[in-house]
Amino acid sequence: MTFKRRLAATIVAAGMVLSLPAAAHAQQVTGLEVRQDDGFATLSWNPVPGATDYQIERAPAGAPEGTGTVVGVWRPNRQVDQDEPAFADAGFNPGDELQWRVRARFGTAPQPYSAPVTGRTNPEYGDPATPGGNLRTQWEETNAASYTSDANEYAYTKALDEASDRVRVVEIGRTVLGRPINMFVIGHPAPKPTAQAVSGNPAALLNCNVHGNEPSSREGCLIMARELAFSNDARTLDLLRTMNVLIVPAINGDGRAANSRGNSTGQDLNRDHSLIRQPETFALAADREMLWAILNVVLSVGLGLVGVWIGTRLAERIYGA
Ligand SMILES: [Zn+2]
Repeated sequence: MTFKRRLAATIVAAGMVLSLPAAAHAQQVTGLEVRQDDGFATLSWNPVPGATDYQIERAPAGAPEGTGTVVGVWRPNRQVDQDEPAFADAGFNPGDELQWRVRARFGTAPQPYSAPVTGRTNPEYGDPATPGGNLRTQWEETNAASYTSDANEYAYTKALDEASDRVRVVEIGRTVLGRPINMFVIGHPAPKPTAQAVSGNPAALLNCNVHGNEPSSREGCLIMARELAFSNDARTLDLLRTMNVLIVPAINGDGRAANSRGNSTGQDLNRDHSLIRQPETFALAADREMLWAILNVVLSVGLGLVGVWIGTRLAERIYGA
């Protein structure tokens, strides 16, 4: 193709693009819906054929049109299921009443916004009238203006332990600077009473805040412990009956206090699970509940008595018992 012909072809193609606004309403997002979940709202809509991406706009409910902010972009080419666009919006205060709109873009050309949907977002998890269920972390109390301090974490952990029969808190070790490293052991109607009993059921471990400057998992784990302690959801209770949930809200308390990735020696803790030179990683590796939970996995893959023998020797070496 000669340059002139290419140019002509480009102009024709450009003309086709320029003719799009005439059919603008066909490009408007329809079917926008919102579903409220704890801590986030899920928006879904009908896909617009050929859209490059979608912008999600949020505003307080009843705000004048055009005063919202674009809070996210949904890109079809980053999803497995492109036929069902859905965007999880977060970053608002729980309980806010909000309004969302979504628009498609073709390249950088925005199409008209959808009709708005409004909804009140879920309040913070936990019934304020239920003793224990009304516990709140510092992060929740300040509407995310400050992360939970170590002192507040310990107070919250202790209060949850005392308020719920489903929760047992064990200190599994101390950080380099001497901060307690706690683990919630959670089950229904009560956590299994001993480490050996823990091994009789499947276990799930959440090891939170490995990097001190990544505090969101710690806040999420503290709230999740409360949710597991007070939930009446049938599936949650069923899970807690048949398994142990082990949550370490802050494995790297020193790093959190200093807002640093590593612990106070500068060690990146998720690079220390094989050498186990740091007290934080040692605490996790040597934890009795964990050890027995791992032993249970070994047993369930059929190593039987060999697993028991190794587990017992290991327990003796670690605990001298
Ligand atoms: Zn990380």
